[in-house]
Amino acid sequence: MNSLDQFARDQLSARDAGNLRRQVVETASIDGVSVEREGRRLLAFCTNDYLNLSQHPAVKAAAVSAVQQYGAGAGASRLITGSHPLYAELERRLARLKGTEAACVFGSGYLANTGILPTLAGAGDLVLCDELSHSCIRTGASLSGADVVLFRHNDVEHVSQLLAEHRARHPRAVIATEGVFSMDGDLAPLAALSDIAQRYDAWLLTDDAHGIGVVGNGRGSAFVGGRAVDIPLQMGTLSKAVGGYGGYLCASGPVVALMHNRARTFIYTTGLPPSVVATAIAALDIIENEPDYAAGPLRKARLFTRLTNLPEAQSAIVPLMLGGADRTLAASRLLEQEGFLVIAIRPPTVPAGTARLRFTFSAAHADADIERLAGIVRERIMH
Ligand SMILES: *Cc1c(COP(=O)(O)O)cnc(C)c1O
Repeated sequence: MNSLDQFARDQLSARDAGNLRRQVVETASIDGVSVEREGRRLLAFCTNDYLNLSQHPAVKAAAVSAVQQYGAGAGASRLITGSHPLYAELERRLARLKGTEAACVFGSGYLANTGILPTLAGAGDLVLCDELSHSCIRTGASLSGADVVLFRHNDVEHVSQLLAEHRARHPRAVIATEGVFSMDGDLAPLAALSDIAQRYDAWLLTDDAHGIGVVGNGRGSAFVGGRAVDIPLQMGTLSKAVGGYGGYLCASGPVVALMHNRARTFIYTTGLPPSVVATAIAALDIIENEPDYAAGPLRKARLFTRLTNLPEAQSAIVPLMLGGADRTLAASRLLEQEGFLVIAIRPPTVPAGTARLRFTFSAAHADADIERLAGIVRERIMH
């Protein structure tokens, strides 16, 4: 065998040993919540399409009509000819939703964070990240070349200590966190982080991938509790509750203009297909105009936590910590036998020893299905 394939096999067998190997499994969506996998129909409690908007007739119609009007692809990067007219509309809508002056759409959430952080911080600067922050925040921070320091999860006191200790030696500082934590479902203490950021002249960046469309009346984690927290850098994705694909940054006019000029993941990549941008606009219409529908995922998640005696859900994501990868995989298989698709989340996605089932709830889930799922979880997994 050649050295390249040998390398790949060695790497994979190390993962096999810890039950950590990943598999790509073909999964066809039937209606968003029901999927077909390996010939079986399963009810998915693991998608991030919290409002099932990927399947919404108005959203699909908007995509089809954009293909007919503008074609299948953007044809170039946004600074060349790829910034078709739908972009301006989407960016206006995002800025309005988030209460910022401007917005900048990127190719994906991952591209957004890996472009934003290196644009704002460089060698000699400071980036503080919550230790549970998503891979793309960590990657963006390390690409920036700044000094990266992790703070304990949601520990405002620790952030304050770190700023007191390190801030003065760095010209610029960024505090990066998730608004709704993707693997834990809890909320960041944004009001306290915003206060501290202002006290130390640090720039607060929130990743609201799991907040938009779900919490804060659909406006996201900065709006939970009805009061808008002042966050100068609100990043998120169009790939989850918004039902399509893409990422965004909502910020001031100058910051957005700087992204156009400096963010490599904005400049050197092709614009999103017009249909994808149209999808997001149609989805935002629903999020803004149907608050009752947008409240669905949280209501469903809370039904589940009530029935299983878990701490009350704060978002559409409910983790059930099982610890070991083996136990978590076994629980996931048991649920699959019962007709439910719930993925085992294992290291390195989450810290060692915290493998878990991650349940996510959609406005389209039927209460009766949640009740049956909760019964099995309570009696056969949590016992
Ligand atoms: C999914 C996710 C992303 C990446 O967004 P994509 O649009 O899927 O690339 C970024 N941050 C968090 C917290 C996420 O959960």
